[in-house]
Amino acid sequence: MTRIIDGNEIADRITADLEPCLETLADAGTTPGLATVLMSDDGASETYVSMKRQACNELGIESIHHELDPDAPADALFDRIDELNGDPAVHGILVQLPLPDHVDRQAVLERIDPRKDVDGFHPENVGRLVTGTPRFKPCTPHGIQKLLEAEGVETEGADVVVVGRSNIVGKPMANLLVQKSDTGNATVTVCHSRTDDLAAKTRDADVVVAAAGVPELIDGSMLSPGTTVIDVGVNRVDADTEKGYELVGDVEFESAAEKADAITPVPGGVGPLTITMLLYNTIKAASLQADVDVSL
Ligand code: NDP
Repeated sequence: MTRIIDGNEIADRITADLEPCLETLADAGTTPGLATVLMSDDGASETYVSMKRQACNELGIESIHHELDPDAPADALFDRIDELNGDPAVHGILVQLPLPDHVDRQAVLERIDPRKDVDGFHPENVGRLVTGTPRFKPCTPHGIQKLLEAEGVETEGADVVVVGRSNIVGKPMANLLVQKSDTGNATVTVCHSRTDDLAAKTRDADVVVAAAGVPELIDGSMLSPGTTVIDVGVNRVDADTEKGYELVGDVEFESAAEKADAITPVPGGVGPLTITMLLYNTIKAASLQADVDVSL
């Protein structure tokens, strides 16, 4: 019987575990603050930011929101980041991606104070992750790590295929899984658009993490029985619905579920964990800046 992994339920449990951390910080006079910066009028980006802000408000993290005109010069964004870097009430800074074409994304990520980089994308934090001394683990791969742990999926010695090599999901996922640690110790294969015979790779896997951004790229014929399938993809495809689209993952759910031992749905799988790990990182940032141990 295939297990449908309930990301919302796992996320709720982790969030509940964060509440005592907030109390410890409050006793020390600190309320964590997360600044979100939106420089886009893309509907999906607006939705993601509002979900993150709502999650902060529900848990008791201060949410400070900034919007910039997508046509504003890049310097307007750099100036705003400088202000937030210097604001002691702001412990974490999240610049929602993607950014307009005229803004150099890497320069933006490097402008954020690495101690406030709750996305974990600053090169200092990437380097710490790769060397096994992480400060902030990127939220989506960290959430997947928590999800595998919660589901009792053993990564030690497992063959894991990560489909996608982005700096946001694929590469940090592979880095976390390969670390010499209880939640790592996997043998990791990273696939991408130039990979020859993707199906042969995924068929050999104990765990497949699909993060390609290609609707239903992986179907049941590409999986062996007993695989754990983690579907990161969130793709809008045209559909006869009120909004004119529906969300599908990178995995063709029906056929994959017939083969998989366990599988995450879209929505309701990885997505909730991503938001929860942002809350986690914001609390960790506040604890580091206030020098209060909350054991995260
Ligand atoms: P990117 O577009 O940055 O990266 C996609 C990766 O997939 C690239 O490395 C690309 O290869 C690879 N790829 C593309 N096509 C194929 C193919 N046919 N076969 C094998 N590999 C392929 O995407 P992201 O990593 O940012 O996001 C991936 C997906 O995850 C998206 O659907 C996104 O919306 C979703 N997402 C979901 C989150 C959540 O919380 N649920 C959070 C973040 C992302 P190459 O490098 O060669 O181009």
